[in-house]
Amino acid sequence: MNSAVKRIGVFTSGGDAPGMNAAIRSVVRSCMYYGIECIGIRRGYHGLINGDFLKLDFESVSGISRRGGTMLYSARSEDFKAKKGQEKAAATCKLLGLDALVGIGGDGTFRGLLCLAEQGLSVVGIPGTIDNDIACSSYTIGYDTACNTALECIDKLRDTMQSHERCSVVEVMGRHAGHVALNVGVACGATSVLVPEQPLNYEEDLIEPIRQARLGGRTNFTVIVAEGVQGGAYEVARQITEATALDTRVTILGHVQRGGVPTLRDRVAATYMGYEAVRLLAEGKTCRVIGMKGDEYVNYDIKEALKMEKGLDPQTYPVMKALTGID
Ligand code: ATP
Repeated sequence: MNSAVKRIGVFTSGGDAPGMNAAIRSVVRSCMYYGIECIGIRRGYHGLINGDFLKLDFESVSGISRRGGTMLYSARSEDFKAKKGQEKAAATCKLLGLDALVGIGGDGTFRGLLCLAEQGLSVVGIPGTIDNDIACSSYTIGYDTACNTALECIDKLRDTMQSHERCSVVEVMGRHAGHVALNVGVACGATSVLVPEQPLNYEEDLIEPIRQARLGGRTNFTVIVAEGVQGGAYEVARQITEATALDTRVTILGHVQRGGVPTLRDRVAATYMGYEAVRLLAEGKTCRVIGMKGDEYVNYDIKEALKMEKGLDPQTYPVMKALTGID
């Protein structure tokens, strides 16, 4: 099959997410389909600067889709943010004969790709982050697995909270976005869900739902707090104890949410996105980022994509507000 590019470099960058391996596999296998060579760059932009690479063939990505993490490692590189670092990275590409790059990561990774496009490379980005906070895409690789991991932990916590009639405050990932908190909160029937996108009124958003749940007969409570909520889970727990005297316990789920076997949804999304990235490059396109609009796979100009904004899901938020406190 005729292709506009001959050799593609693929790398993962920023925070890792389950499903990144499935995306790498898809890029490699799609390259083979289009008759393109594929080189894996280890440790994101750091590896690009330092020439840290490996040749990828059919066998080297066999069976990786079901593994969490990323076989190419991920990193953040301050050096790459400077012009000198970008020139070094471009020199590595020239030495390896790369004419195109696929970067799997978040907004920072896409900004980095734009710098390399200025150096003459064709580039495509794939959204990979458990936070689902990339504006151009309704879905990002890793989100479903992370939500399911958090949900499983919360279900376990709830068993013990029920036995001891306690209040559980669970902090989930999401420094700037409450998608994980909201989704998981709806799924677990939380008493209250606190997200960074909404102004916080402790009485209205936290204490009153607990009171309503108690009046409804509940004696154990689950409060989901996104990482980015002001004061964090410990302050929320302090407010609950002060207002209600409930026996309140804090659990920070942390990095456990980043790991684990990717779900079907993540593997499928990663596989489609990997294929789309290679297809675009093979057709001579550049500076694109893959996204999802509902169930459809779409792509945008990276600069346009970076200007987009994403709020909380307008359908899920009212459901959460309507049902919290009365589970
Ligand atoms: P996550 O959402 O998981 O944090 P990310 O891709 O947004 O993923 P960042 O740490 O912001 O993560 O970016 C990854 C890397 O991309 C950075 O370490 C840096 O090397 C490069 N990068 C980020 N912003 C820029 C920029 N403005 N210009 C050039 N390179 C950048």
